[in-house]
Amino acid sequence: MTQGEAVEARPELREDLTKIACASYIGEMLDAVLPENKPQEGVFVLAAAALTLLGSLDEPFLLLSCFELRLLAALGYRLNFDACAACGRSTQGESFYVSPERGGVICAGCRGRLAGAYAEDFPPPQLSAGACRLLSGLLNWDLRRVFNVKAAPAMRQEIDAALAYYLAYYLGAPAARAKENLSVYYKV
Ligand SMILES: [Zn+2]
Repeated sequence: MTQGEAVEARPELREDLTKIACASYIGEMLDAVLPENKPQEGVFVLAAAALTLLGSLDEPFLLLSCFELRLLAALGYRLNFDACAACGRSTQGESFYVSPERGGVICAGCRGRLAGAYAEDFPPPQLSAGACRLLSGLLNWDLRRVFNVKAAPAMRQEIDAALAYYLAYYLGAPAARAKENLSVYYKV
């Protein structure tokens, strides 16, 4: 049998490759964030749960987002998507700006007011009210809810860009590289 025939005979192969890429991403992130000889139980429990659920999901996006958010939380960076981190205004009805400096998001008004503190040549991603709500849920829900929730492609893009920004800010180059590697095999 040639390789081409083998691929045709296994239509689920693409899905399997995506899952392998996602699983190795989870492993790469652990490598990137865990200092040697310093086990962090919460992080391992989270990774094990994510790997288990990965096997039975058709679409891994929300699970991976959940993993990323909770990994940050386990490392001490629990993000808040419910309100502007500067003025406390609720994240409803308008887009907010990603603000890792403040541990969550800030409203357009506060961003304007605080603009001096931010480099404008690299504007932070924005999150719609719906994306903020979903991110908040992904942090707080039972992990298995990723089976019952779907996100439209536009919202996935939004969330992916925001999470990449937070991960790079808090965890630096190794985490950013892991996410980049994943994007070669898995298109959000
Ligand atoms: Zn504000």
